[in-house]
Amino acid sequence: MSNRRPLVGGNWKMNGDLAGCVELTEDVVAALSQTDVLDHVDVSIHPPFPYIQAVGHALKHHAVDLGAQDCSPKLEGAYTGQTSPLMLADLGTLSVLVGHSERRHGLEESNGLIGQKLHAASEAGLIPILCVGETKEERDGGNAHDVVAKQVREGLDGLDSTAAGVISIAYEPVWAIGTGETATSEDVQEAHQMVRSVVGSMYDVELAEAVRIIYGGSVKAANAAELFACPDVDGGLIGGASLDARTFAAICLAARETVVA
Ligand code: PEP
Repeated sequence: MSNRRPLVGGNWKMNGDLAGCVELTEDVVAALSQTDVLDHVDVSIHPPFPYIQAVGHALKHHAVDLGAQDCSPKLEGAYTGQTSPLMLADLGTLSVLVGHSERRHGLEESNGLIGQKLHAASEAGLIPILCVGETKEERDGGNAHDVVAKQVREGLDGLDSTAAGVISIAYEPVWAIGTGETATSEDVQEAHQMVRSVVGSMYDVELAEAVRIIYGGSVKAANAAELFACPDVDGGLIGGASLDARTFAAICLAARETVVA
């Protein structure tokens, strides 16, 4: 049994409108406040950028954390359309996803760019959540572990151990995101163990044991308990299922149940 506190993030992607995002936030807070989940699990929600301040306002005085879906690799300057991690921190954002597959593959973000974003987020005082994962072709070609190990190494390249001790990593096989297909718990455990050993080889075993590695890819209330029970799985990054407050709360409860009282 690890000492790592589980983390469950809700990635709302580009869904909802202002009123809907605020209402969903209130519903998540209400659903979780009927449980003791927040005493045992870190829960974050990652709304679309335009609504982040309103969602942050709705989260005030509640233990659910505000997260962002992405950030600029730069802290300030002439970068039209980008959002500085300093600005996110200014709004009370705690964590930020970097390297989500919908940006790696949809927008062709490289490991190098993702590493720069991670550094910038860390410099701004945010907790970076580095997303990694192989495509179906990479998996079928037998390259899944090499691809993921490279994403971890290049994402963390140059990060000192103080900063690395704060990050989380989300293992999200691309073929499982938004498809309803989930990796088996055996595959997930194996991948998480491999990611942890890569972190250990870059830093040390103690740091690797402290870093949270969460799973993402079609997590639902029905499969969360089995996935979260894996020894190296420290919670989840939830897309589609986080858009329903009761389902998201049930997934958070599954994470809470992995914590022995
Ligand atoms: C995600 O957006 O990170 C994700 C895992 O999505 P879904 O849960 O919908 O597969």
